[in-house]
Amino acid sequence: MTTLTKPDPASAPGGSQAGGGPFLSVRDLYVRFATEDGVVKAVDGLSFDLERGQTLGIVGESGSGKSVTNLAILGLHNPRNTTITGEIMLDGQELTGATQRQLEKLRGNKMAMVFQDSLTALSPYYTVGRQIAEPFMKHTGASKREARQRAIEMLAKVGIPQPETRVDDFPHQFSGGMRQRAMIALALVCDPELLIADEPTTALDVTVQAQILDLLKDLQQETGTAIILITHDLGVIANTADDVVVMYAGRAVERGTVRDILKTPEHPYAWGLLGSIPRLSADVNVPLAPIPGSPPSLLNPPSGCPFHPRCEFTGEVGGDRCSAERPALPAGRGSACHLTAEQKQTIFTEQIKPRLR
Ligand code: SF4
Repeated sequence: MTTLTKPDPASAPGGSQAGGGPFLSVRDLYVRFATEDGVVKAVDGLSFDLERGQTLGIVGESGSGKSVTNLAILGLHNPRNTTITGEIMLDGQELTGATQRQLEKLRGNKMAMVFQDSLTALSPYYTVGRQIAEPFMKHTGASKREARQRAIEMLAKVGIPQPETRVDDFPHQFSGGMRQRAMIALALVCDPELLIADEPTTALDVTVQAQILDLLKDLQQETGTAIILITHDLGVIANTADDVVVMYAGRAVERGTVRDILKTPEHPYAWGLLGSIPRLSADVNVPLAPIPGSPPSLLNPPSGCPFHPRCEFTGEVGGDRCSAERPALPAGRGSACHLTAEQKQTIFTEQIKPRLR
């Protein structure tokens, strides 16, 4: 059963969102799934804010809790096996207490999602135009004719050539890049104020990926939509996000502006993510450096810092502190790691940066 309860406001970093607070405020979010093998702790005390017209990048490997977080915002979990605690406020409206009916009204209207796999997300049985027109009719009461016209407008807006004829095509008649554009048209048809894009470019080649990210940015400038961009790839957020939350094992482990995260990352996990981005200037004979080990089981997460089984810097902290004591994430810019600020800076400059060239 889905349960949503209010957290202690004192534990919320970044202050209260009451009375003119952030457009989206997530506070102390916990998401648990009951499975046959036990309880999966998918999200473990996550807090962040997002303002209108801004893009928040949520970055992490699969299983880090980033997609689960956004499904919780959209109210898309299976209520039979999911427990959610925490507070999610969207434009002053508390989603935590919202009924399924209220959430349904908000989805597609005030908030919308672009999924990773457009071939699965779009129905093969209906034309692209009909799939864009239907939510518009449902949420605005527009006629069929008006909704078709709106679908054509939206296809034109996302750069589909000859939208008057392509509106009657089925998804399989579109290329991968065009389908992703159509998904964006579908998500934006009711002018949502919050758009959640979950790995929107993963299945696309690099050129089309850049075009889709540019499109999202242009549309945001035009409409002022707030965007959450979920990705495993720090390269994707480089030219797109304003702020970034790095997630590991269901927790935020680092938070900062996109410049902070790309230029002066502090957390050893963020260093690992940065090291795994392909660089044009890199020597082609030097292989990419994946992060050693695998993400932990969320049925039974590691004690202390969840990254400690994969971290090469536990010795710098000393003793068993990394495996025994959970590091806290400070409010504002910062990282959840026991290394001192000086150690983080020295290690990054002397050991990590040379590996990134
Ligand atoms: Fe590594 Fe310890 Fe920092 Fe965790 S707290 S990231 S294990 S150094």
